[in-house]
This record gives sequence, structure tokens and C-alpha cells, in this order.
Amino acid sequence: MHPTTQLLQEARDRVTFPIQDLTKLIYGNQEIYETFMKAQKIIASEPSIRNHPDYHNWGRKEQIIKSYEKLRIMHQHFNLTNAAHWTPILSLFQGTTPSAVSFGMTVPALRFLGTDEQFNLWGPKFLTMEIVAAYAQTEIGHGSDVQNLETTATYDSQSNDFILHTPSVSAVKFWPGELGFLSNYALVYAKLIFNGKNKGVHPFMVQIRDNSTHKPLKGVVVGDIGPKLGYSTKDNGFLAFENYRIPLNSLLARYVRIENGQFSRHGNEKISYASMMVSRQLIIFIYPRMAAQSLTVAIRYSITRQQFTNDKGVENSVLEYQTQQDKLLPRLATCYGMIFAGLRIAELVDDNFHRVQKKDFSTLQQSHAILSALKAWSSQWVVDTAEWCRLSCGGHGFAHYSGIPAIYFDTAPNVTLEGENQVMYLQVARYLLKVLQYVEKNPEKVPFYFNFVLHIKETLANQSTDFGQLLKLTLTLQLISVAKKIKDSMGTGKNFQQIWNEVVGVQLLSVAQRYAEYFTYLVFQEYISNANPQVKEILQQLCDLYSLQVILDNPNTLIESGRINVEQFKQLNETKIELLNKLKPQALGLVEAFNFSDNALRTCIGCHDGKPYEYIYEWATKENSVNIKGVPQAVNDLMGTKIKARL
Ligand SMILES: Cc1cc2nc3c(=O)[nH]c(=O)nc-3n(C[C@H](O)[C@H](O)[C@H](O)COP(=O)(O)OP(=O)(O)OC[C@H]3O[C@@H](n4cnc5c(N)ncnc54)[C@H](O)[C@@H]3O)c2cc1C
Repeated sequence: MHPTTQLLQEARDRVTFPIQDLTKLIYGNQEIYETFMKAQKIIASEPSIRNHPDYHNWGRKEQIIKSYEKLRIMHQHFNLTNAAHWTPILSLFQGTTPSAVSFGMTVPALRFLGTDEQFNLWGPKFLTMEIVAAYAQTEIGHGSDVQNLETTATYDSQSNDFILHTPSVSAVKFWPGELGFLSNYALVYAKLIFNGKNKGVHPFMVQIRDNSTHKPLKGVVVGDIGPKLGYSTKDNGFLAFENYRIPLNSLLARYVRIENGQFSRHGNEKISYASMMVSRQLIIFIYPRMAAQSLTVAIRYSITRQQFTNDKGVENSVLEYQTQQDKLLPRLATCYGMIFAGLRIAELVDDNFHRVQKKDFSTLQQSHAILSALKAWSSQWVVDTAEWCRLSCGGHGFAHYSGIPAIYFDTAPNVTLEGENQVMYLQVARYLLKVLQYVEKNPEKVPFYFNFVLHIKETLANQSTDFGQLLKLTLTLQLISVAKKIKDSMGTGKNFQQIWNEVVGVQLLSVAQRYAEYFTYLVFQEYISNANPQVKEILQQLCDLYSLQVILDNPNTLIESGRINVEQFKQLNETKIELLNKLKPQALGLVEAFNFSDNALRTCIGCHDGKPYEYIYEWATKENSVNIKGVPQAVNDLMGTKIKARL
């Protein structure tokens, strides 16, 4: 057998748990799994859309055209308005997916903020792609601070319509995905001016391009903002309006209305959170799976890559080195935790939507807090993981042919978009402090995934070094500490906003991240208790390694509070090494449970048959279009005289 293929095969033979049982858990349901497998197959076998080794040599325009072609073919095979079809496909595009904003942000906003009539008017046209609509909220001057957006929609009582206007350069809509050239509509967030009064920022469904020519309509200035860090296939755009008239029905009118010349509000405005939930939930669901792709490549490659000879004269696979295991295995464990968290969150969000539709807002805030915490934590972690995987593949990790650099830069924007991470964490911290206040007067209001606040005394008294207990203790100590600091600071002449912004900001971010980690632990435990007995043990090992790594990454709270001494700390490190040793032989099975095809991984160093070197050479010599045949003219121009002079 080929020597590196043999290394991979021997590693496969060492796996002791039933891989397919984990596959079932990872995908959550059969429909999602089947869609994913079918989409992988179609993409790999259809020459016009298969992920291409030479992709990163192409220009941006070529890349965009290919991704539209891929989407068109996906449309023929799947119902892309069905989340079970749409979601699994998102991780399979080279570059990010076109129309994810239209489906993942605009459609949900329309559903939740529009009336039924409005949804019925526009909704079905998304399915046929008669309408592609950007979600145009951010402006050059403001992103996170939505209330200070400057675009105006002024109600004209004479003509009973709105005048949409961009009053300054800072008010130009900037960044919306699919706005550059794909969208013919945009959901535009603008300040509603009624009878000279600002009624707040509201969404308006606005046609921006002509139905037959696709050219911008008169009064609309629109285009692509230019190249970015990755995301090359996304036409993030700019959009300005010059006193552009839009009909009254453009205002999404489930919660605000203008009728008979009167402005009125209805229901709970917090509903606006609900539409953002779909896209944040997608970020949590999909992108840890792209981290799983980078881990699959890195772990396969680390088994086939040999460096330095051992005392038996045999070269070591680099995964044999403890330091290499330390780079990859805790991340693999965390990846499983995040995937389970993503699945549980999908259920929570779904449940919340059903309630909201019945005007029950009781789970809205907790869902928002959990989503925000996990969006912030997982999105940064996915990018960091791609970087560690890249490093773990040495020089070959640096090349696009590894597949890893593209994962890094196509997931990097998630840290900023859909709510900048730190801004998200601050909202989580606000909710945690609110829940803490429930404890004395309304303990029944404390939601299930926050009920650690109901057990503060027991948690503080508990001396156990059980990992779950240590995670809960860290979270509890940090929450109490920041609440106390805010209280103590109130007497120092600063108001609450100043204390929040200037005194406790760093602590607030920390406690919010601790919550994300603890939530993931809780969900991991739920999955273990419901799992088939044959995979319980491996899942428990993964959960232990995950929890332990989280504790070791942030031990300060436990050390400062005296809850963990030097000896215990040393012991935790020893336990981690034991877990690395246990999980090393299972690592290949753990990544192969994701069932990524070689083409989906877009790699030549992490393929299933374990022949990195042959493919590296093949891709460089046969697939790399930079190797122009003959001597390029520019080389002749530059070197020609020198070459001749040497003759
Ligand atoms: C690839 C990409 C795609 C995008 N797609 C869309 C889209 O489809 N539609 C759309 O409308 N927008 C889109 N955006 C814009 C995106 O939503 C915003 O960039 C994002 O919300 C962050 O806002 P900002 O750029 O104003 O950052 P800022 O808020 O200006 O952040 C700058 C810094 O200030 C800090 N900061 C801000 N406020 C606070 C605070 N209160 N307390 C502490 N620190 C604070 C942040 O942490 C950050 O470090 C996209 C952006 C990117 C990068």
C-alpha cells in the first residue's frame, strides 16, 4: 500500500467507536444529512460548479459568476426556502454563498415585521428568485448603533407615500450583502419622519432595480463596495437615495402603521429581535462545521505528515507529538460542543418563533441572549481554529491548496456582521445582570438555561473540582463580582452608563463569554445523557477535554478566589494530557464522522486516501494556471536583455 495511505488506514483501524452514530448526532436530522450528502455529490460531479483547485487564481468577477452558477444548480435540486435544504449547503460553496442574506435575513424580517398581506405579496417571489433583496441597515457612519441611522423616510400626507432620502455621505447604506449587483429590492432601515417628528428607525421594502433591465431605478445610486478580506463572491454594496418616492405599503406594517393619516404602534417592538435571530442562528449552526472542515484537513494531514525519526528508526507522524495534539484535539472537542449547542439553539429559536407568532414573548429575551452569546463566542472561535489548523500544517497550511486559508477569511467577517461580537457580549451581560435581579423577587422568571443564578450559595459552598462545577463557579463568581462593582461604583459620581462604558466593560465581556462556555457545557451534557451507549464514553471524553481547556484558558477567577490551589491546577493539566492520549487514536474517526467529501474540503493535503504529496505536486503542475506555457512577455521585457547579454 502507498506509505501515507497506509498511515491513514492504520489510524482508521484504531478507531473504536461507531462513527455513523456520531454522524447522526452531528447532523441532527435525516433530512439535513441527506441534503448535505446529495449537495456534496452534485457539486463534486458537475464540472461547471465543482470546487476548483485553480479558484484562487481567478479574478473576483469569475469567482462570483461561478458561485451564481452553483446557486442556480442548487435551486434546481433543492427547495432553498426550506431551512433543512438551505442550511447544509451553506458550508459547501467556494467563497461565501450568494443570496444567503436575501433568504437568511430579509425573508425572516418580512415574515416577522410585515403584515400577512405584505408577506404574501413579496414572500413567494423570493422562492423563484424574482426578488432578491438585500438587508440594508448599516450606513457608512453607523452600524452597531441602529437608532442613530440617518437615512430618512418622510411621510408625505398629500400623496400618501414616503420620500426616501440619504441626507449625507455618512448616511449612505454600506456593506449590505447582495446589494452590489444581485438584488432588485432592499429592505431599507430608515428614520420614519411623520408630521415633522422622528418616529424611530423602521424597515421599508424598496424596489431598487428595474424588473426587466436590472438597472438602478431613477433616484437610486447603488453598486459594489470593492474587495475585502475574503468574501470575494459576496457583492457587499452601497446604496443612496435622492428624494426617491416609495409607496405607503413599503413600510413593514405589522407593528407600526400609517392609516387614515394617523401613525400608530401595535404589539411588542422587541419582535425586531426575532428577524435577526434566523441569521445569528445560521452563523452558530453552519460555521462550526467549517471549523470541522479545517480540523478534518489538519488531523488527516497530521497523520500522514512525518517529521523526525524515533528511536526505532521510524519517522513520526506529527500527530504523535503532544504539542500537535494540544493544538488540535481540544479544538476538536470544542467543535463537537459547538455543534450540539447549534442544534439545541435551532430548537430554542424555533420554539420562540412559534410563541412569538401567538404573541407570546416570554422566551424572546432569553433566546436573544443565548443566541448573542453563542454567535459571539463561536464566530471568533471558528476563525481562531482555522488559524491554528493552518499553523499545524506547517508550510502547506499557508497555501490555498490546503483549503484552510479560505476557511479563515470566509468566516472572519462573522465576528463583525450580524451584531459585532463585543456589542453582542455586552447585551448578554445586561441580560445576565437582569436575571440575577430576578433571584430575590421573581425566581420563577429565571429561564432554564440561566438557573445557575438560583443556586449561588450552593455553588460557592461546593468544593468539588468537577469540571461542570468549576465552569459554573467561574461564571457565578464573575457575575457576582461585576454586579458588585457596578453597585459600588454608583456612589462615585458616575452614572450607570458611564460605569458600564468606562468601569466594567472588560468584566462584562468576560462574564458573557463564560456564559457561552457554560451553556455549551450544559448542552454537551444533555447530548451525552441522551446518546446511544456506544458513543457515550467518547462524548464524555470530548466534553471533559472541552471543559478542561476552557478552565485552563481562564483560570484567574478560580485562582484569585482561592478556589483552586497550585496542586489542583497541576492535576488539571495532568488530566488534560491523559485525555489527549485517550483521544489521539480516535481523532480520525471524530473528524470523519462529519463525512466531508474531498471536493467539499477544497483540499489536496487532507483527502480521504491520504496522498498529500502526490496531489500537492499535481495541483501545482497541472491545476495552477499561473504556470503559463512558454516565456511570458513581461519576463522577456524584464530579463530579455540580460539573458541575451549572457549569451
Ligand atoms: C462582510 C460583512 C457583511 C455585512 N453585511 C451586512 C448586511 O447584509 N446588511 C447590513 O445592514 N450590514 C451588513 N454589515 C455591516 C455590519 O452589520 C456592521 O459592520 C456591524 O454591525 C458592526 O458595526 P460597525 O461596522 O458600525 O462597527 P462599530 O460599531 O463602529 O465597531 C467598531 C468598534 O467599536 C466597538 N463598539 C461599538 N459600540 C460599542 C459599545 N456600545 N460598547 C463597546 N464597544 C463598542 C466595537 O466593539 C468595535 O471594536 C456587514 C459587514 C461585514 C463586514
